[in-house]
Amino acid sequence: MSTKDYLEKDYYKVLGVAKTASQEEIKKSYRKLARKYHPDANKGDAEAEDRFKEVSEAYDVLSDEKRRKEYDAVRSMPGGFRGQQGGGFGFDLGDLFGQTGGGTQPGGAGERIGDLFGGLFGGRGGAGGGTRTAGTRRARRGADVETEVTLSFGRAMDGVTVPIKLTSEAACNGCHGTGAKAGTVPRVCPNCEGTGHETRNLGNFGFQEPCKECRGRGLVVDDPCPICHGSGRATGTRTIQARIPAGVADGQKIRLKGKGAPGENGGTAGDLYVNIKVLPHKVFGRSGDNLTLTIPVTFPEAALGGEIRVPTFQGQPVTLKLPEGTPNGRRFRVKGRGAPRRDGTKGDLLVTVDVHVPQKLDEQSREALDRLRTAGAGEDLRADLLQQARQE
Ligand SMILES: [Zn+2]
Ligand SMILES: [Zn+2]
Repeated sequence: MSTKDYLEKDYYKVLGVAKTASQEEIKKSYRKLARKYHPDANKGDAEAEDRFKEVSEAYDVLSDEKRRKEYDAVRSMPGGFRGQQGGGFGFDLGDLFGQTGGGTQPGGAGERIGDLFGGLFGGRGGAGGGTRTAGTRRARRGADVETEVTLSFGRAMDGVTVPIKLTSEAACNGCHGTGAKAGTVPRVCPNCEGTGHETRNLGNFGFQEPCKECRGRGLVVDDPCPICHGSGRATGTRTIQARIPAGVADGQKIRLKGKGAPGENGGTAGDLYVNIKVLPHKVFGRSGDNLTLTIPVTFPEAALGGEIRVPTFQGQPVTLKLPEGTPNGRRFRVKGRGAPRRDGTKGDLLVTVDVHVPQKLDEQSREALDRLRTAGAGEDLRADLLQQARQE
């Protein structure tokens, strides 16, 4: 068990007891649950097996007054501890080593050392990058991860849950991050006595540099793990389900808290940033929370006014009343037919009129337009323009 487990797991909840429960209550609840989820009683039921393990782990900690105290202390730490500059962590290595002998879990001692080292030394070279020695452990926040998701216009409007595959470095499964072959544990480096650095004397000066024997790790592995060849690290792939909210727009960045790289030594996980790409729609565009649409209108419709049918996104068409003399490019607003907002309301649909000039005319239309030209002959649209252009 690592401090990370302590932070993430609610052992009281697992056992279904109050934080103030007596040892007698804890034992009673444990026995009941252990019987219920025991593998012998649930042959092949993986879920029951997991529950059984959880219950055993919880009991393991809570039934030991000393470990229960540590657990309570870790859980009650203020949030600041979990940050990047969290500082040293509350209990020392010697304490834990002393304790492993008395473990009640089957094979508990070995596993606990493994987990401990996994958390301590198996981690990635994080942001701090300082030399880690056996005595100090920093809670380190996991790295932020960035990724990109491309959505169709409709899926972006509706919101969608997308699986995102992430690769990250994790502790090797074979050795739980210790780098030592299963059943063996690394030993403290005799050269640096576990500090990870040594002092080289150059004349009158002493230089401190990483220990060559253990490469600054403070531990040496005699029998390396065959899976990771002693590095203690593995590349893990995990798939997370990322919830993309409805109405997301192209170029937006969604932050998914705690879905980035896992933290070290009880540090919180980093965040996942998803850059959203939205494919264009054939008809609709976006402008903030509003949808945009350009609609062709004939010259008589624009001049005389009238009712036109306008499509809406995923809805019934609406009727738009064009007033008499609608100019080209005028924008109309259809309320509430835009993109969904976070608060559940919707933006508007902005409809821009595009007055169409006929490219081909039949005889009748030509005559009608001719009559229109004659009727409007008195008006010279460009008179003012020509006049003003002559001014300095
Ligand atoms: Zn390994
Ligand atoms: Zn060393």
